[in-house]
Amino acid sequence: MMKTPLSVQHLFEYATTYFPDQVIVARHAHGVHRYTYREFGERTRRLSQALMSLGVGIGDRVGTFLWNDREHLESYFAIPTMGAVLHTINIRLAPNQIAYIINHAEDRVLIVDRALWPVLAPLREQFVTVKAIILTGELPESDPADTLDYETLIKSATPLARYPDLDEASPMGMCYTSATTGNPKGVVYSHRGIYLHSLTLGLANTMAIGMSDSVLPIVPMFHVNAWGVPFASLWFGSKIVLPGPAPTPTELLQLLNDEKVTVAAGVPTVWLGLARELDAHPTPLALRLAVCGGSAAPESLIRRFEEHYHIPFLHAYGMTETGPIASTARLKTHHISLDYPRQLGIKATQGFLVPGLSIQLMRDGAILPWDGHEFGEMCIRGPWIADEYFRDERSRDTFIDGWLHTGDVASIDPDGYIHIVDRTKDVIKSGGEWISSVDLENALMAHPAVFEAAVVGVPHPKWDERPLAFVVLKSGERCTKEDLIALLADKFARWQWPDDVLFVDEIPKTSVGKFLKRTLREQYQNYFTSV
Ligand code: ADP
Repeated sequence: MMKTPLSVQHLFEYATTYFPDQVIVARHAHGVHRYTYREFGERTRRLSQALMSLGVGIGDRVGTFLWNDREHLESYFAIPTMGAVLHTINIRLAPNQIAYIINHAEDRVLIVDRALWPVLAPLREQFVTVKAIILTGELPESDPADTLDYETLIKSATPLARYPDLDEASPMGMCYTSATTGNPKGVVYSHRGIYLHSLTLGLANTMAIGMSDSVLPIVPMFHVNAWGVPFASLWFGSKIVLPGPAPTPTELLQLLNDEKVTVAAGVPTVWLGLARELDAHPTPLALRLAVCGGSAAPESLIRRFEEHYHIPFLHAYGMTETGPIASTARLKTHHISLDYPRQLGIKATQGFLVPGLSIQLMRDGAILPWDGHEFGEMCIRGPWIADEYFRDERSRDTFIDGWLHTGDVASIDPDGYIHIVDRTKDVIKSGGEWISSVDLENALMAHPAVFEAAVVGVPHPKWDERPLAFVVLKSGERCTKEDLIALLADKFARWQWPDDVLFVDEIPKTSVGKFLKRTLREQYQNYFTSV
C-alpha cells in the first residue's frame, strides 16, 4: 500500500475542503467572533505566507503565547503546514522558566496576545533567537517598538498556495512539561504522531468527535495541544468553540448553553467549578460528553454530572509525553448490566489504553501481572509517545529500552483498566508501606460538604512520612475532622488514615489547575516533627 506521509497538512486540507461552511466561534474580551472554516482556511494560509516572509523556514520554532482564541487555532495549522514547529508556551509559568524555554526551543518568532505582553516585555532582552514578535488582539494607540501587528500581516500576505513536502517523522510541534527539579523539559510532536493521535479522538471507544459535534476545549491550548482536541475537531468538521481569555464558570456555562456544545474537555477543577455553577443556575445542556483528565476525576464528581445533570462523563488519562491521550474509561459490554455504583467505580479508573498503544507495569525491574492489586510504574509505548526530551540529558531517566516511564504508579485489573494510585513523587511512604493519596482524596471528596481535598505525605519522626489532608469546604457547609475520618474508616485501614485534617480556604494549584502538592509538602514539612 501507499506510504503517503501522515501530516497535519492533510488535516487542514481535508477540513477546509469538506467542511467550508462549518463554524468556529471564538469568545473574546467584548463578545464572540464567528467565522467559517473557509475564512479560517484563508487566514491560516495567509499567516503561513507571512511567517515565510519573515524568514521562518522548515523546522524553525514559532512560539505562541495565546489563550484559546482564533489566532491560536490559526497558528495551530499555519505553523506546522508550512513545515515549521508550533511551540505552545504556557502563559502561567514563572518568568524565568518562560525565558528558559523560549531560548531552549530557539524560537525565531513569537505570536503573543497583546493582553499578555506585560508578562513577556520584561524578558525581551533575554531572548537570544527571537527575530520577530507578532501581537494579536485589539490594536492599541501605540504598540511596543519593533513588533508586528497580526491583522496587518495577514491582510498584506497572499495565501500560501503550495505546501512543502514533509517527512511524516518531522516535528510539527512542541510543548514543555514541568520537572520535579530543574527547568521544564521539552517534548517534540511529529506530524505522524499527531495525525494518528487525532484519529483516535474520533473513535467511538474514546470521544467519538465528529461533524455533528460542537466542541469546546476548555483545557488551554498552551497545554499539550489542548489534548489534541483542536486537531481532531477541525479534521472531522466539528463546530469549534474557543473560550478565550481566562473564562469564569459563569462564562463557560453561557458558552456551553449558547453554542449547544456537545463535547467539552477540562481538568477536574474546571468541572468542579462548573458543577457549582450548574447548582446555582440549573441549565439544560446539549453536552453528550464531559471529558475530564489531567488529574484523577473524583467519583463524586462523575456521579454529580451523570446523576444530577444527566451528562455522561469520560475520564481520560495522559501526559505531555503521550500526545497526550493514552487511555479513556469507557465501559465494556459486560459492565452494562452492573449497578450504577459499580459502573461508577470503573468510570473513575483511568480506563484502558486507546488502540495503538501498549503498556507494562514495572517494579524493581520486574514486569507485574494485571491482577488489580500489584502496583508499579506504568510504562507506555506507541506511535504518539515521545522517545526523548528535546536536547535534554534527563531523557535517559525516562525513556528506557523503548518504553516511556511515566512516573505514575498504578495497578491494572484483568480487564486492562488502569487505577492510578499516585505519581511516584506523590506516593506517601509510611513505615515502609505505600499509601495512595489519590484514593484518600477521592474518599474525602465524596463528603457532601467537601469542595476539594488534597492529601500529601509529610515527614514524620517515627513513620518516615504520614498523610496530612487539606480540605476546602463548600461555601456555607460545615463538617469536622471526625466526620471525615469516619467516612474513611470503612474503606481504609487505620494506618492509612490521615494523621490530621486541615481546613483551608484554597488548595494551591499548578498553572493548569492541578493540585500543587509540592508547595503543600514544603509549607508543612515540619508539621509532624514540630509537634
Ligand atoms: P505536569 O502536570 O507535570 O506539568 P502533564 O500535564 O504532562 O504535566 O501531567 C501528566 C500527569 O498528570 C500524569 O503523569 C499523571 O500523573 C497526571 N494525570 C493525567 N491525567 C490523569 C488522570 N486521569 N488521573 C490521574 N492522574 C492523571
